[in-house]
Amino acid sequence: MAEWLRPRHMNEALQLLAELPAERYQIISGGTDVMVAQQLSAPRDIAVWLDLSAIPELKTVEVTTEGIRIGAGVTLSELRRHPEVQKHWPMLAASAAVTGAAPIQNRATLGGNLCNASPAADNAPVLLAYAAHLEIAGPNGTRLLPYEQFHLGYRQTALAAHELLQAIHIPFLPAGSRAYYRKVGTRAAQAIAKVGIAAWIHFDAGQGIIVARFGLASVAATPCLLPMVSHYLEGNHLKDVRESTIREKVSSDIKPVDDIRSTAEYRLEVTSRLVWEAIHDAH
Ligand SMILES: Cc1cc2nc3c(=O)[nH]c(=O)nc-3n(C[C@H](O)[C@H](O)[C@H](O)COP(=O)(O)OP(=O)(O)OC[C@H]3O[C@@H](n4cnc5c(N)ncnc54)[C@H](O)[C@@H]3O)c2cc1C
Repeated sequence: MAEWLRPRHMNEALQLLAELPAERYQIISGGTDVMVAQQLSAPRDIAVWLDLSAIPELKTVEVTTEGIRIGAGVTLSELRRHPEVQKHWPMLAASAAVTGAAPIQNRATLGGNLCNASPAADNAPVLLAYAAHLEIAGPNGTRLLPYEQFHLGYRQTALAAHELLQAIHIPFLPAGSRAYYRKVGTRAAQAIAKVGIAAWIHFDAGQGIIVARFGLASVAATPCLLPMVSHYLEGNHLKDVRESTIREKVSSDIKPVDDIRSTAEYRLEVTSRLVWEAIHDAH
């Protein structure tokens, strides 16, 4: 029979983590991924469940002068309804609102969505586009990692043994910033993304592009950026951007695969069109 540990504070959780052999424990937050995997796809022989759901430090949302700090245990329901998130980081409110259905959002945490490390995670593109940082806690203290360095390979993350995700930091965007988020699935709701895209575009007063950051889901083994597209757009003027060049750059940036949800060809086509739409329709 597995043991269930439910620490009440971060210090207690970190102490327990440090004492447990890495291969024997399983962290659980909302359980919406890990319980499904345990029941259906890949059951593991778990000796100890480390349940993070009673740790108040993981459930706080703080707005600072620099941006927002979201505890890893904040649920997607809380995020989609949070007035500051809706006002300053609307793409996150939007992605939280399309992650599964309301009962899932009531349990699912933002930290769980990232640490589960699905290439199709709906909130991942948004955090990539917003240039988020992750606050990771472990036996040696706390470190801050750019989110774009978190996903190392298919379902592999930069979390070391005995570490956990403590919070997500997103900066305020400068004036002139526009955002665009779109999840393309089989249905409008309750479908895993064929392509998910989030864009942060920062224009100068004359439609010159200062920053163009795109986060993508479901087009590679991990959630990813579009560095070649960004390089082409940044410093360019909107009127000089060519759709054919966007296509070329998207093809250099991503090599999607065929799977049960879609084809590589469809994903390339849709991604190119959505990048084009994002730079023109972001608001
Ligand atoms: C019916 C259904 C529909 C869904 N639809 C979608 C969808 O449309 N889009 C989508 O993106 N996802 C979807 N999901 C997946 C899921 O709901 C999300 O990924 C969710 O955000 C995971 O959060 P959680 O708190 O439940 O994570 P858990 O299941 O508790 O954990 C997931 C993983 O993250 C690790 N983990 C959790 N918290 C931490 C932490 N703080 N530090 C370190 N590791 C941690 C766990 O060890 C585990 O490996 C769906 C799931 C279900 C069951």
